[in-house]
Amino acid sequence: MSKTFGADQGVIVVSNRLPVSLECSGGTCYSSPVSGGLVTALSPVLTVNKGTWIGWSGAPDVEGVDEALRLFSKETGYTLQQVGLTSEQIEKFYFGFTNQIIWPLFHDSQFECNFDPDFWQTYLDVNALFACRTVESGEPDDYVWVHDYHLMHVAKYMREAGDNRRTGFFLHIPFPSADSFRRLPWRSELLHGLLEYDQIGFQTLHDRRNFIQAISVLAPHIKVTGRGQVVTAKVGTRSVKIGAFPISIDYKKFYRIARSAAVRTYAQEVHNAFPHKNIVLGVDRLDYTKGIPQRLQAMHKLLTMYPELQGEISLLQVVVPSRATIPLYAKLKKQIERLVGQINGEFSKPGYVPIHYQYRNLAFDELLAYYRASRIALVTPLRDGMNLVAKEYCAANVERNGTLILSEFAGAAAQLRNGAILVNPFDVEGVAAAIHQAYMMEEGERRRRMDRMRESIRKNDIFKWVDSFFASAFTT
Ligand code: UDP
Repeated sequence: MSKTFGADQGVIVVSNRLPVSLECSGGTCYSSPVSGGLVTALSPVLTVNKGTWIGWSGAPDVEGVDEALRLFSKETGYTLQQVGLTSEQIEKFYFGFTNQIIWPLFHDSQFECNFDPDFWQTYLDVNALFACRTVESGEPDDYVWVHDYHLMHVAKYMREAGDNRRTGFFLHIPFPSADSFRRLPWRSELLHGLLEYDQIGFQTLHDRRNFIQAISVLAPHIKVTGRGQVVTAKVGTRSVKIGAFPISIDYKKFYRIARSAAVRTYAQEVHNAFPHKNIVLGVDRLDYTKGIPQRLQAMHKLLTMYPELQGEISLLQVVVPSRATIPLYAKLKKQIERLVGQINGEFSKPGYVPIHYQYRNLAFDELLAYYRASRIALVTPLRDGMNLVAKEYCAANVERNGTLILSEFAGAAAQLRNGAILVNPFDVEGVAAAIHQAYMMEEGERRRRMDRMRESIRKNDIFKWVDSFFASAFTT
């Protein structure tokens, strides 16, 4: 529970998805909670403050959704309100604007962008719907906290509707360089839309710097002043706070469950399944930003550059299904599977498979057992807002002898550079050398590095993240 946010302060959280999963049939819907850091951190705040969470339910706009949400609200102690979306809106707003424009552009993959003007118009329409639902909700002095790239225009529409409550926005993904951002046909509208919030939070100082550069290029009349974690932009008569608030995990939960008997036993089974015991773990959603093909090529390079490691080390690569209906993602899946086949075809021998590939969702205990059983975590996104897998691996590494190899282009690198081996994920030979370095690293050094990272994550957990966002928002 947040320390800075008093129980008398009302709060409304707005995000694309509600923290609930619904299964509907014949007009009746059944709900189950979804887990994840954001829900873990915000649910207690909303429960104590009897707040509201506004979002899309993920289910078609059918009868029964409201009733399921009402029952869910009764259990959690805070209100869930859905924004209903038509299938055309889902197509153009979610699969269109957010997945085919903002996601690639903000992750430096601008050549994957489909700048369809229809997508933009639907993005605005859907943001207006979210704003409308927010305007109707809560109390006059509630704080409205909007999350992520799906909803960058909500504050603008709230103000246009005469709702002047305090608003904050947090961007969970990177903010691109000014040069990349300028490619967006609606760059100026989007920038000014964001500046309608009273506070804008980014994952890292680097993202914040990019945003300030975008202001200086596209809106040079807006002056940004101040130093430190939070600076201020003067927008007309308003002051907009712009800060870096690196998101984190519920460290204690990962540590506690990783130590449980069930996870320990399962981790032992996983360990025993690999005769050489040297598991290199990759866990990623299916996404081109995660650098999975490059990582597979690095494994190929490793086994070629250091043939003595053939039979001694394997990659356990979990790919979590995501956005598989988008052709680019389907193509990526095929590419990954082809590479896995090629590498295994080249290096497998009786009792040894270099790449163990799983395309599925893991249960929580299973994920923790994989973290615990792995000697090395290979977290090499080409670009990532934060990357929670890197932090979760460290928190679950209760033996404190694992090694994290981390992309310098993940937001987590700013915090974990004191213990991780940092790599450029595009440099296949460099990543292969880093795996070799991790393999050769003596136990004392592994432990010292891991202890530094664990301590940093323990001190800066998800609850601290909520606290620091609110502390800044409520400081005059
Ligand atoms: N995760 C999951 N299902 C799985 C494996 C992992 O939900 O089968 C979780 C993992 O615990 C982590 C999240 O997915 O919290 C991935 O977050 P990250 O920041 O690494 O990447 P994102 O997918 O948000 O881009």
